[in-house]
Amino acid sequence: MELQWNWNYLTEVMKELIETPSPVSYYEEINPVMERLAGELGYEVSYDRKHTVYIKVPGKDRSKTVCVGAHLDTLGLMVKRIDADGMIRVRNLGGINFNSIEGETATIHTRSGRTYTGLVACQSHSVHVFDDARSLTRDENTMMIILDENVHSKEEVKALGIENGDIISLEPHFTITENGFIKSRFIDDKACATCSLAVLKLLKDQKLTPACDTWFVFPHYEEIGHGGSYVPAEVSEYVALDIGVIGPDHNGKEDRVSICVKDNFSPYDRELTDRLVKKAEAWGLNYAADVFYRYGTDGSAAVRAGNNLVAGAFGMGTFCSHGVERTHMDGVKNTAILLAAYVLEG
Ligand SMILES: [Zn+2]
Repeated sequence: MELQWNWNYLTEVMKELIETPSPVSYYEEINPVMERLAGELGYEVSYDRKHTVYIKVPGKDRSKTVCVGAHLDTLGLMVKRIDADGMIRVRNLGGINFNSIEGETATIHTRSGRTYTGLVACQSHSVHVFDDARSLTRDENTMMIILDENVHSKEEVKALGIENGDIISLEPHFTITENGFIKSRFIDDKACATCSLAVLKLLKDQKLTPACDTWFVFPHYEEIGHGGSYVPAEVSEYVALDIGVIGPDHNGKEDRVSICVKDNFSPYDRELTDRLVKKAEAWGLNYAADVFYRYGTDGSAAVRAGNNLVAGAFGMGTFCSHGVERTHMDGVKNTAILLAAYVLEG
């Protein structure tokens, strides 16, 4: 069967998802975008109580339900405290590398719905002033946000409506080069969420039916480890779509789909992983099977939480994970095609 992909749709959707802020727990902007994108393809969205987005597609075999998860949450920050001089101190949401966010534009989302931008800076922010401007360790105790507002005291910042616990998102800088490199924050995991939408579009455009009932799910708490922890009882397989990482121990590359055999927590199910590897082989995909170290997915979160299911995981090789990341359209395409193969063939 010839699959007719619309790769322009994929890149447009990826840009929109990446540019919609969704740090861990901040679902209220991205969920309406998902509802609109699903609606445009002719699908309805439902939710669980954790605001996980579900798009449920009936399959040929109605007796089996599988789940394909791609998390919508990204790394971000939270207002920890406001200093007397009006500087904002932060706590991380997920595994932020503070070195990678110095100089970044941050947006603070207040509870009243107002937004303010600021600059992420180190407290020793200038080589002209501080002996340790280059050497001071960048972490949550040394980094701060200076607001792009004329404020100089805690009281003035609070008067803007900014409070401890406000969500802070970071500029993603989404870029695609002419030769297909994608550079952006939050390729993890919005490139994978985009692959799910591209497969959903393919099913509609070509009137294809999944092998079994297939739920495309989009959780909001993967980056802190519990995105996939709740899974409805009818789901027997959880395939987590998440980035593959690149390093000296790995065969993954930006133009490949990485199949994760084992992560930090556990090996993935042998039968399901075998099926994914054989499918990648049979479909002629550029893939790598790899063992990841400081890494987990919603698939392992689902297993760890005690759900009665088996898990697998795959995704495009991604350089500089949790920083300004880079992958390649070929890796995204290999991931989307492996997903389509899994959905259509089981
Ligand atoms: Zn991820």
